[in-house]
Amino acid sequence: MSYVDEVIERVIKENPNEPEFHQAVREVLDSLKVVVDANEEAFRKDALLERIVNPERQIKFRVPWIDDNGNVQVNTGYRVQFNSAIGPYKGGIRLHPSVNLGIIKFLGFEQIFKNSLTGLPIGGGKGGSDFDPKGKSDREIMSFCQSFMTELCKYIGADTDVPAGDIGTGAREIGYMYGQYKRIRGVFEGVLTGKGLSYGGSLARKQATGYGLLYIVEEMLKCKGDSLEGKTAIVSGAGNVAIYAIEKAQQLGAKVLTASDSTGWVYDPEGIDLEALKEIKEVKRARLTEYKNYRPNSEYHEGRGVWTVKADIALPCATQNELDLDDAKALVANSVKVVAEGANMPTTREATEYLQENGVVFLPGKAANAGGVATSALEMSQNSERLHWSFEEVDSKLQGIMINLFHNIDDAAKKYGFEGNYVAGANIAGFEKVVDAMNAQGIV
Ligand code: NDP
Repeated sequence: MSYVDEVIERVIKENPNEPEFHQAVREVLDSLKVVVDANEEAFRKDALLERIVNPERQIKFRVPWIDDNGNVQVNTGYRVQFNSAIGPYKGGIRLHPSVNLGIIKFLGFEQIFKNSLTGLPIGGGKGGSDFDPKGKSDREIMSFCQSFMTELCKYIGADTDVPAGDIGTGAREIGYMYGQYKRIRGVFEGVLTGKGLSYGGSLARKQATGYGLLYIVEEMLKCKGDSLEGKTAIVSGAGNVAIYAIEKAQQLGAKVLTASDSTGWVYDPEGIDLEALKEIKEVKRARLTEYKNYRPNSEYHEGRGVWTVKADIALPCATQNELDLDDAKALVANSVKVVAEGANMPTTREATEYLQENGVVFLPGKAANAGGVATSALEMSQNSERLHWSFEEVDSKLQGIMINLFHNIDDAAKKYGFEGNYVAGANIAGFEKVVDAMNAQGIV
């Protein structure tokens, strides 16, 4: 059995009931086989793969809070500090009822390589809770966030671990968490990113993941003598990543036909009305059913279905495993040219392979959505030097990072004989830097 297969088997045995974590490890290690085979003796001697699939630390804690009726509620909180070889742990906090340790580990593992690809000094981590923010009042959100941070603040800091937003954690939640951190630790430091502009946040952080996604797609198309101008796109999700992906796609001349949330999706043949979408999701925090009130010619459908709409480009921006093999078949049948992941692992393994086998250009999330964490690292830099950069300065740095990132994964794919396979390119390029740092630092 190969070293890679041995380690995958061990991960499955030692981490039962964590299918998403198994999926992420398998996807990364399988595509690294060529690199691992070439260095097998040295990697085995140092148990390199065993170390890379084992988090440096994982913290699980109780989060008690009081709801508006005076009842005590209890959730579970997590922080997985996966790998600090190249910098302080960095990765978001997910608040969603589906959160469990396996989900946080899959996200933390992916984050190691994504953060490495940005070229910035940030290690990999992730956190969250099974708390469901939907339907909660502001006071309940605050009560939860304060309790969550009361425990989490013991393990994080501006130079050790810097969490950020993710599903369910936006500016409001970051604000409440930051206030509690400052109150308990007594320091005003850049311990969280995605902060409000009045207390250390960075301009363009809110837009960064969605904008970055379109910057990398545009660069890939440019290398093929093409561009986004005049293309049609289908987007899933209607949260932070989806909204700003739609905004940048439209700015670059594409027409976006869809958006979705966990209950349904909208098809707007005239192109999504971004102001309406922002008002529904960012201001009213309402469901997409409302979209029809703004755009009578649009269609609302219950359930899933975004991937059945004909378009040139598909951008999954909601959640993991939201694009399966049947969806991939529908996309290929509709002649989609590009799939770029705004969300983390939204495409199943079978779907990814089907798309690649059928000539669809596939940009994996760890490269395509790295603009968010890259801009978080720029927020950390601004906090450290106590300066505030302009929107244009941050946006142009983000653009530069995404362009470099594309060429980095493209070159890595070519170097190992996988030209055009950006899954392999991203995993290899991300891995090589982390391994170099781990080797330099000894067996730790
Ligand atoms: P948000 O919470 O802002 O939005 C998530 C969107 O996806 C919402 O429209 C939500 O619908 C939908 N959604 C969530 N879970 C499900 C589900 N199980 N089924 C169907 N729809 C679902 O999150 P973000 O936009 O921040 O994150 C989206 C994805 O991008 C995640 O995978 C995240 O890890 C990834 N990501 C985010 C980054 C960031 O900077 N925010 C950076 C890099 C990656 P509803 O409101 O109905 O729940």
